Amino acid sequence: KAKELGRNNYQFYSKEMTKKAMERVEIEKELRNAIQNEEFEVHFQPQISIKNESIIGVEALVRWMHPQKGMISPIKFIPLAEEIGVIESIDKIVMKKAMKSFVEIKQKGFDLGTLSLNVSMLQINKDNNFIKDLKQIIEDTKIDTTKIIIEITETQVMKDINKTIKILEEIRSLGMKIAIDDFGTGQSSLSYLKKLPINKIKIDQSFIRDLPQDKDDYELTKAIIAIAKSMNMNLIAEGVETKEQAELLLEEGCFEAQGYYYYKPLGIKALKQVIGLS
Ligand code: C2E
Ligand code: MG
Ligand code: MG
Ligand code: MG
Repeated sequence: KAKELGRNNYQFYSKEMTKKAMERVEIEKELRNAIQNEEFEVHFQPQISIKNESIIGVEALVRWMHPQKGMISPIKFIPLAEEIGVIESIDKIVMKKAMKSFVEIKQKGFDLGTLSLNVSMLQINKDNNFIKDLKQIIEDTKIDTTKIIIEITETQVMKDINKTIKILEEIRSLGMKIAIDDFGTGQSSLSYLKKLPINKIKIDQSFIRDLPQDKDDYELTKAIIAIAKSMNMNLIAEGVETKEQAELLLEEGCFEAQGYYYYKPLGIKALKQVIGLS
């Protein structure tokens, strides 16, 4: 009896595993398809000057518009895209679409400030066409490169520090700036921060979430603000959801914020409405 049960169990798990593997193959196929068909939409989350609550920039955030499943969040497909080596294609589609919209809005008379783009260093490090393709998109859209901020995360930076520095320097030589995203969550040391050509730090939302109650997070936030100041870097806090958080940041010397308290990521139509274009 036990033996029988064991075998059934085995069959069950094996069936489950086969199902999982098949689902993965399926979504992988769909993702490659989505790249072919450019099934990606860019949403924009405004970045704010805390003092007067004006928009000083926007961050481009990708969404997969699946023809059957609807809108899929980047946290659901970016890791897979990195794993199967297609993230770079997605980043390029996003850069192209985001820059196009950004320039179009400027031509209509509204200055959004800066455009922040998330870029996966994993792929950039492997692919030598990245800079070339980036230059091409810049040329096609005629965007002012000094308005562009490239966001990279700490963890990705550390794989090959020298190669990373070289690429970041190249990006900066084109006029763009570099921000370090999700700051404080990786294993980065201060020496990495010193070595990298970074213009801006984004305080990760995990530090902001439980402010002002959480004393540890409060101390860490103050420490990050002090680091940015002492290294002469620009600074923005992510995930600001309440007025108290915004006030506390301002008080401690962080002047820029991004979060649901101000705006959620907006589709292009909603963004135009917010800024009075449309
Ligand atoms: P991120 O770059 O750190 O972006 C911030 C994330 O926090 C976004 O999630 C945003 O919608 C969310 N967020 C903003 N304000 C708040 C808030 O007040 N509260 C909370 N709880 N969340 C807030 P999203 O859009 O799901 O993006 C997730 C991550 O996916 C991004 O994190 C980024 O690492 C990655 N990603 C997004 N677009 C791209 C892209 O085009 N290329 C690459 N390589 N990665 C991307
Ligand atoms: Mg980001
Ligand atoms: Mg972040
Ligand atoms: Mg993140």
